[in-house]
Order: sequence, then C-alpha cells, then structure tokens
Amino acid sequence: MKKLIVDSQKCIGCGTCVSLANKTFKMQNDGKSQVVNPVGDDEVIIQSAVDSCPVAAISWQEK
Ligand code: SF4
Repeated sequence: MKKLIVDSQKCIGCGTCVSLANKTFKMQNDGKSQVVNPVGDDEVIIQSAVDSCPVAAISWQEK
C-alpha cells in the first residue's frame, strides 16, 4: 500500500497540484498543500500532479 504525502518543508504553495487534482489536494491556511484524500482523483491525475510539482514535494511512500 502506498501513501501519498506532501512535504510541507518543500512545498512553495504554487497551487499546481490543487488545480490538477482538487479532490486529492487542498491548500491549507499556512499556504501549503496537503493531501485530503489520497484516492480523491484518478491515479493518473494524481500522478500528473506528483510529476508537475516544481519542487518535487509530493511523493508516494511505501507504508
Ligand atoms: S505543486 Fe508542489 S509546490 Fe505546488 S502547491 Fe502542490 S505540493 Fe506545493
């Protein structure tokens, strides 16, 4: 089982992941993205968000 995570230390709050997969990621009050539902969008869409993050803050981690 893989776990989707956003590294808030790396996230620069650009909003790209939220605009691509808005059921999976949400911007938080601190201006950083967080995973709100790891299966919120199709995996292909989530993967495109992972690949589009300019600072590679989103990753899959093995549980
Ligand atoms: S794409 Fe990356 S840097 Fe931009 S908001 Fe999402 S996690 Fe943060």
